[in-house]
Amino acid sequence: RAKSMQRAGHFYYSRSMGVEIRERVRMMHALRTAFGQNQLFVVYQPQIDLVTRRPVGAEALLRWQTADGKFVSPDKFIPIAEYSGLIIDMGEWVMRTACRELVGLRAAGHDNFTMSINVSQVQFRHPYFLEMLRRALADTGAPPEFVELEITESMAMEEPDLLIKMLAQIKQTGVSIAIDDFGTGFSSLSYLQRLQIDRLKIDRAFVTEITGSARGSSIAEMVIQLGRNLGLAVIAEGVEDERQAQILQSLGCPLAQGFLFARPMTADALNGWLSNDALAGVA
Ligand code: C2E
Ligand code: MG
Ligand code: MG
Ligand code: MG
Repeated sequence: RAKSMQRAGHFYYSRSMGVEIRERVRMMHALRTAFGQNQLFVVYQPQIDLVTRRPVGAEALLRWQTADGKFVSPDKFIPIAEYSGLIIDMGEWVMRTACRELVGLRAAGHDNFTMSINVSQVQFRHPYFLEMLRRALADTGAPPEFVELEITESMAMEEPDLLIKMLAQIKQTGVSIAIDDFGTGFSSLSYLQRLQIDRLKIDRAFVTEITGSARGSSIAEMVIQLGRNLGLAVIAEGVEDERQAQILQSLGCPLAQGFLFARPMTADALNGWLSNDALAGVA
């Protein structure tokens, strides 16, 4: 009897859900299974000094390839991981994986290389976030001064007091903080000044616009200027062609990341890329 009720309940539930929600639930189960079976992996996209054109660090980006070989975009599965709470364990795993990779790169002689790791607001608000971070650093031996956390601007705008307190505590661990997708969230300048952050990441949308009109480059220009005034490092994301790189450089943007320089790549590929092309100046 219990069984038939369950079935009936399930049927009722399914019918009342929209296709979109059902798809989300399906994906949530698939994601949980994939994570449990080590089918997720981390790729690394180099970050480049625009003047020397040498790599100075990398951003860790999560990848999910399903059993049939298809890649699911993080823009799709990260929200599901957040919604289901899976992001807590997944985010911790990314943190530890990227920290270990950093330690490996240092052992291979890339001494000043930095590692940027994306942090979801769900992770960030979790009561054990700081402990998780400290443990990841301690267990992997990753030097905090070379680890950076990326939080999004939209996330930075909510609950200012909590954020200010959290950032102060994170700073005590020695890791630095970047505001990702900067320019899309309209944070007020006076608020920004109160945050203990180290770097602004110009959103790809403004890099794409840069080669258009003078107006198109105005936001990128403003962020670069803002960084200079506040003493923050600035990096441009999504640089796809040489003209964009040159304009950014002429505007005084020190760092960039994008397909022009390198696509996100596996740890093995990064190790090879760093020891060959990049250091030979072919990057
Ligand atoms: P994001 O942090 O802003 O990452 C930059 C995205 O731009 C990445 O997409 C990267 O592959 C892509 N990209 C880099 N250079 C170029 C370029 O020249 N042109 C274009 N068109 N795209 C470029 P990806 O890997 O698909 O990640 C999308 C978003 O998913 C990330 O945006 C980030 O918000 C989130 N994400 C990825 N990995 C993680 C993770 O481990 N944890 C969390 N919480 N979020 C993650
Ligand atoms: Mg990012
Ligand atoms: Mg970004
Ligand atoms: Mg982005």
